[in-house]
Parts: sequence; C-alpha cells; structure tokens
Amino acid sequence: MRESRYRRFSEHLRQKFECRVYKVALDAGLSCPNRDGTVGDDGCLFCDPAGGSGRTTGEVQPTVTEQMRSGMEGLRKRYHAERFIAYFQSFTNTYGSCRQLKTLYDQAVAFEEVVGLSIATRPDCLSSKVLDLIQGYTRGHYTWVELGVQSMREETLRTIERGHDVKATAQAVRALRQRGIFVCAHLILGLPGEDLQDMTQTVHEVSALGVDAVKFHMLYVTRFSRLAQVFKEGNLRLLEREEYITTVIHLLEHLAPDILVQRLVSEAHRDILVAPDWLRDKSAIIREIEDTLKARNTCQGAAL
Ligand code: SF4
Repeated sequence: MRESRYRRFSEHLRQKFECRVYKVALDAGLSCPNRDGTVGDDGCLFCDPAGGSGRTTGEVQPTVTEQMRSGMEGLRKRYHAERFIAYFQSFTNTYGSCRQLKTLYDQAVAFEEVVGLSIATRPDCLSSKVLDLIQGYTRGHYTWVELGVQSMREETLRTIERGHDVKATAQAVRALRQRGIFVCAHLILGLPGEDLQDMTQTVHEVSALGVDAVKFHMLYVTRFSRLAQVFKEGNLRLLEREEYITTVIHLLEHLAPDILVQRLVSEAHRDILVAPDWLRDKSAIIREIEDTLKARNTCQGAAL
C-alpha cells in the first residue's frame, strides 16, 4: 500500500465500509438550466454538449436500473468491488421535478449492494424541496452532493459563463451541511485569467465553508465545447503537465487536513479530448503527485 499524504477518499471508504466500495457513474438523461435557456443557452464555456461535464460520449443511455446493473458488474470484474455508490454524474442531476428525481434516485439505490448516493449538480439548482428529497436518503445511505464550484472568484465565473455567483455556492454548501448531506466541491485548475494565488484563495474559501471533500480537475478542451474554438484561435493557455502537478501539491498543502480528496486529476473521454494530450495518462499523473509529495516530505494542510 502506498503511503498517503492526503486524505484519499478510497481509503476512507475502505475504512468506513470495511470492503471495496466504488462509484457507478450514471447518466440520468437530465438537462441543465445553463443550456435550456433558463439561466443560459450555450452552457459553461468548457462544457461538452454531449456529456455535460461528465465523461460519457453522448450516446443514448439505458435506464438507471440497467446502468447500475452493468456498472456494478464491470466494477466487480475489474476491481473486485463489493459495495457501490450510485453517482449521478452527467449534466445537472437536481434539475427536474421532485417526482422525477425521486424515481431516478430510488432506482439507483434499490440494489442491496448500494451503500451510497452521490448527486452532481450546480449550486443554484437546489430548491428547498429538492434538498428535502435528498435529505431523505441520508437515513439509509451515505449521501453526497457534488457541487460544481469551479472557482470562488466572481470574475472567473463570469468568464466561463457559469450563470451563478459565489454567493450561490456559499448558500448551497450551508444548506446541504445543515441537512446532514455531505458536500464535495469540484474545482477546476487552470481556468482563464486565474493564477496560483486565485486557485489558493478558492481552496481557502471552500475549506472555510466546511465542505467535506474536493475534486481537483484540470481544465481541458473537448471537441464540441465552446472552449475548443477559443483554443483553436490561440486564446487559451492550458497548464503544462509539470505545472499541474506542482499546482495540485501547493493546493493540497493549503487544504484543511480533514477534507477528503476524491480526485487529483480529471478524466476526459479520450475520443473527445482535444487538449492537453498529457491528460490521457491519468494514473501516471496521480503517481507523480504522490511521489513528489513524498520526495518533498510534505502533505495536505502543511502550509496552514
Ligand atoms: S452546469 Fe454543468 S452541465 Fe450545465 S452547462 Fe455547465 S458544465 Fe454543462
């Protein structure tokens, strides 16, 4: 077992459930208010219309029940997974009527082996009715909401056309925590106009809000996103591989030590990835981040 210098989520799950727990990624076929004209028409600058920031290719998806069955089967074969967290990943998974959402979530947790539910959404898409609905699952399941925070800098949110502000994020985190729902903040590194100081500020702010976990993502360009055009025109500088590794280590050092780390680097579907090419070998990047933490004898929270 590799030495852990940050609070790795997989280890936490292993300790909590005393077995191998894996997430089953689901596409519920929902839309997004930043795509259907409610908040915006074109989506966030980086969003791929086929996958909605998830990593599917936009093919028509089978039902949630079918996705759960085949997802669990695949994870059992590949990783000897024993228990599962149903992960609603693509697009905005709280964007629907409570009745529709309940049907989808119930289908996912109907399996005996499912111990948890994780729902990815936008901070401005959590009405009190939806919060009540999700809170209901905390009684029987390890329940998370994964919030697309991306940045805590207003100017950046405007640049990437998120359609919500920092206040919406703060309100969403507070409301979720009040209801006993665990919160994972998704943060994108290397967003246009941001430097290391801005990213560090975001990490400090989400730590102060009391999120339970973070996921770090590298900003990447997919074929059908609007960002692809910006990249093609030469108006986007992406982080280099080494720069990304150094940035993640710096941010880990500034992250509160009790916050779980669910992801160190994003996974892009290789068929739609335009750049950066180095993102294709995710495992090597994770290994290098972990090796560098060890070589520098540093760890999560070391700079606090
Ligand atoms: S909120 Fe998510 S699904 Fe909606 S446009 Fe932005 S990245 Fe895409």
